[in-house]
Amino acid sequence: MRFDIVTIFPEFFSGPFEHGIIRRAKDARIVDIDVHDLRSWTSDRHHVVDDRPFGGGAGMVLKPEPLVNAVESLRLPSEGGRAVVVLTTPQGKLFDQREAERLASFDQVVLLCGRYEGVDERVVNAVVDEELSIGDVVLSGGELAACVVVDAVVRLLPGSLGCDRSAIEDSFSASTGLLDCPHYTRPAEFRGVAVPDVLLGGNHAEIARWRRQQSLVRTWKRRPELLDAAQLSDDDIRFLDELKATTK
Ligand code: SAM
Repeated sequence: MRFDIVTIFPEFFSGPFEHGIIRRAKDARIVDIDVHDLRSWTSDRHHVVDDRPFGGGAGMVLKPEPLVNAVESLRLPSEGGRAVVVLTTPQGKLFDQREAERLASFDQVVLLCGRYEGVDERVVNAVVDEELSIGDVVLSGGELAACVVVDAVVRLLPGSLGCDRSAIEDSFSASTGLLDCPHYTRPAEFRGVAVPDVLLGGNHAEIARWRRQQSLVRTWKRRPELLDAAQLSDDDIRFLDELKATTK
């Protein structure tokens, strides 16, 4: 899989992809991440990428020509694999684990990072397939949003994590739709708080049951709406009914 990120601040990305899982995935050629300077697609002497908004008002707008030229030269031809062009914008569809799983199935994701007031709307019409937002919050630029997308997608690619089960058991994963259970490591007691006995007993069936129930408790307390879409067994439903009946 490859990411092509188009930005006016390529140096922004010199750190985030050089650590941990993403770094290992790059080294193992599971993913290629290329960062491109939008100014390379300008044709004027000063490499201007923005201009004042028609109609007046505050801020600047990213011009259409460099962005459209960038996408047209970066996007793989259709015989090169499945490609998708994504504009980062607070007005886009909310980026969540389902979206990350969906993007992980593409061969190429081109990520456009906006700045200032955003990008000329004609870029969207001409070359953008999808608009994604990382949350109902306004960032100064699309670079952080692009990092979030790359990170969430790369860890889903086969071979990226030391253990692929870990992604399956993570919060929001398609396999559970629940929040993850609590985790503990050594020491067995810390500041008077002991690790739950079941985790020390070595009974794997009991441990799996305890973890499932903890996931259900957490999801019910913190994100009850997730339970509507989660795949629940008869045991899960019985457990939740008891929980609701015994908890005020
Ligand atoms: N005027 C725009 C609006 O109110 O919708 C906000 C522009 S924002 C200051 C500049 C750029 O940051 C956007 O073009 C986008 O690329 C990026 N950005 C800001 N918030 C974002 C979010 N929640 N998700 C994804 N990208 C975001």
